[in-house]
Amino acid sequence: MNDKLTCDDFKNIISKISDTIIENSVYLSKLDSKIGDGDHGTTIARGFRAVIEKIKKDPPDNISSLLKTTGFSLISAMGGASGPIFGSIFITMAEAAEGKESIGLKELTDMLSDALVKVKEIGKAIPGDKTLVDSLTPAVDSLKDSSAKGLSLKEALILAEESAFKGVESTKDMVAKKGRSKYLGERSLGHQDAGATSMFLIIKSINSSI
Ligand code: ADP
Ligand code: MG
Repeated sequence: MNDKLTCDDFKNIISKISDTIIENSVYLSKLDSKIGDGDHGTTIARGFRAVIEKIKKDPPDNISSLLKTTGFSLISAMGGASGPIFGSIFITMAEAAEGKESIGLKELTDMLSDALVKVKEIGKAIPGDKTLVDSLTPAVDSLKDSSAKGLSLKEALILAEESAFKGVESTKDMVAKKGRSKYLGERSLGHQDAGATSMFLIIKSINSSI
């Protein structure tokens, strides 16, 4: 396994993320139906179908434009509150990857760390609010730790996936403070957050595609 990801590797990553989200669409909407309006899986799958279409029609030739195309396709196809949030993750990663022909662990860590900062800025969610921030934060913390320890990209992604999964599990013990589920207050307890689950699936797909 190469420790640097090329544009072709990122094409595989985006394709894997898209397929995984589409495969899990019913599950994700079911999670959202417990504490939201039940559309999350449909919405995000629509977003990633648009991503696949756009990339097929107009293939990007570098990592940054591939990620930018992904982000803007998500925003325009998803709409609502979650479109700009998920879209900004990829657009921010694109900005951090500008001019780079390959991405190693340090760069990927910086890209996802910048994306987390952006998501928090846009959605004003902090850890513990029961949102995708609760799976992205532990994944980014884990990547930073692995990068500091000099682990390989693959080792780091395995640990990041595990951390994101624990983050998803932790949302069951949280009272929602953001999004539609906040109106349920204490009644949101015991339920897993749909957006945090999608974010976990994104991290898992990055790991499984390399
Ligand atoms: P909508 O709430 O418009 O129906 P979705 O159902 O597609 O959108 O997405 C819901 C998910 O969006 C939630 O499960 C949560 O993880 C995420 N989310 C909602 N509000 C915020 C926010 N302010 N910051 C970060 N994530 C959020
Ligand atoms: Mg919803």
